[in-house]
Amino acid sequence: MVLFGPPGAGKGTQAKKLAKLLRVSHISTGEMFRSEIKRQTALGRRVAKRLAAGELVSEVTALCMVADLFEKRSTRRGFILDGFPRSRFQVEALGKILSDHRLSLDHVINIQVPDDEVVSRLVKRGERGGRSDDNLEAILLRVAHYREMIEPCLKSYELVGLVRHIDGAKSAERVFAQLKNEIK
Ligand code: AMP
Repeated sequence: MVLFGPPGAGKGTQAKKLAKLLRVSHISTGEMFRSEIKRQTALGRRVAKRLAAGELVSEVTALCMVADLFEKRSTRRGFILDGFPRSRFQVEALGKILSDHRLSLDHVINIQVPDDEVVSRLVKRGERGGRSDDNLEAILLRVAHYREMIEPCLKSYELVGLVRHIDGAKSAERVFAQLKNEIK
């Protein structure tokens, strides 16, 4: 499964819960980068500034991390991708990875939340000490980038009838109920 949705839509929360329920891997490229930063690895030091500014890190770096998980067969019970693919290039690369491993996507779920709601959620998270990219400048950049570059990636999955839309403005519990319903 691939989860789409603007930053602050609750992808991470929902993906974690669903992955636990279904006992599949939750693959969050953002979390992988944050873990590298926390551990102060060479990669972490290289990407920290870009993450804090709300900019994308190297597309190839993200792709290699995902490809590696498929190589190691961490995805053998299934997977929920959260934050990947994020560009046309990554959509195509994911297609290639899946076909190389004779896998296919069952679901592409789009968690929809309006811009004003996600901005206010992320500003609040920032005030509570959230992530390094939860400052207004980075938030606005991430949301704009999502609408301009990431959301259009849904089109190629829409063409093959894979996309289901979910109303993410509701409570986390209600969003999770919708999510389970869509993949039944
Ligand atoms: P997220 O946790 O998905 O909001 O991602 C946090 C940050 O990690 C993003 O703003 C990017 O800097 C970086 N990132 C995550 N996934 C990718 C990706 N697929 N390609 C490039 N950069 C990514």
